[in-house]
Amino acid sequence: MAYLNENYLKLKAGYLFPEIGRRVSAFTAAQPEAARRLIRCGIGDVTEALPAASRAAMHAAVDELGDRTTFKGYGPEQGYDFLRTAIAENMFRARGLEVADDEIFVSDGSKCDTGNILDIFGTGNRLGIPDPVYPVYVDTNVMAGNTGEADAAGAYAGIGYLPCHEGNGFMPDVPAAGEPPLDLIYLCSPNNPTGAAVTREKLQAWVEYALRHGSVILFDAAYEAFITDPAIPRSIYEIPGGRECAIEFRSFSKHGGFTGVRCAFTVVPKSLMAGTRDGRKLPLHPLWSRRMTTKFNGASYIVQRGAAALFSEAGKAEVATLIDHYLGNAAVLREAARDAGLTSFGGTDAPYIWVKTPGGLGSWEFFDVMLNKLNVVVTPGAGFGAAGEGFFRISAFNSRANAIEVGRRLREEL
Ligand SMILES: *Cc1c(COP(=O)(O)O)cnc(C)c1O
Repeated sequence: MAYLNENYLKLKAGYLFPEIGRRVSAFTAAQPEAARRLIRCGIGDVTEALPAASRAAMHAAVDELGDRTTFKGYGPEQGYDFLRTAIAENMFRARGLEVADDEIFVSDGSKCDTGNILDIFGTGNRLGIPDPVYPVYVDTNVMAGNTGEADAAGAYAGIGYLPCHEGNGFMPDVPAAGEPPLDLIYLCSPNNPTGAAVTREKLQAWVEYALRHGSVILFDAAYEAFITDPAIPRSIYEIPGGRECAIEFRSFSKHGGFTGVRCAFTVVPKSLMAGTRDGRKLPLHPLWSRRMTTKFNGASYIVQRGAAALFSEAGKAEVATLIDHYLGNAAVLREAARDAGLTSFGGTDAPYIWVKTPGGLGSWEFFDVMLNKLNVVVTPGAGFGAAGEGFFRISAFNSRANAIEVGRRLREEL
């Protein structure tokens, strides 16, 4: 008998997107006429075409592989130097941040990286995970056996949920003095789903907390490119001490429209240490390097060429145009929500708008109103954690025409 990983049995059935799909199918079957004008603002996936600079670079890379003198087989597991250097130079050193090329680990996605990172941490770490948040952080900890069972409300034993609400700007505050210190802390800024971005003061408080307690912060900056407010930190390494307490995750998915192409990276500073049970402090960098060389064979050469092209002058201009497009949609949706009398947050430094359900409706109840009355699919906040109840997320990943039409329906049909 082979035994399975029983931690998987603790996972609540993938509830959110299947349930949205079920409700949308039921609506389509019942109201085929109305279903024809359905607009999806639910999924966190980009919609606009891939930058031409990336496409040209990928075409050229394919041709290189078609000639045995320039053919490439396996590449370096940590990523090609041309991309690691372009990342470190453009995203960090150009902003005065100290990040070495070999502290960048290129991968095929931040979803995998934020899950796989648990390979290099031991068991028994006290976890701090914001609520609501990107569900990957919780589920990967459940799979790794770092939690107990879920309670009736869906909260897993062994996870310290860090509530995010209007009162704290939808970014968790450091725990009060006297509470048992957290060892491994997830922060996502700009945030999926709330669209909030952490202030410098709050991020500094978290870095100081982590340095005080020897904790590690897992900082997911997948939406960094959407930050418009110059006061908002784009990297945790902007905070003094960040290199001693944080791993940063970035992705080209939302930055360059790469959700289908697949390329991301993780920064593990060589100065970041974690403890052994016998009291030593050792660097994490060699562990992640070993993990990647053992369990990963590198992102595709073609894709890495496509990602590097995002840092060319033409590529940067195209990325800026993409981001402007989505943030323009977000502005249209935010204004419409306001005109409709809804209270909303986010959407200025992120492609998501976090809207309070009116009249005290539950997030699924309001999902149904949006679906059946406005024929617009949104994402119920409760799907991102218990503290998301009473909110819904509207995604700005759409065509401008769709954003304008959703705005019109919010104003005229709600
Ligand atoms: C989209 C997203 C990512 C990026 O995932 P990829 O696997 O790189 O596509 C990472 N974190 C959050 C919070 C996201 O929403």
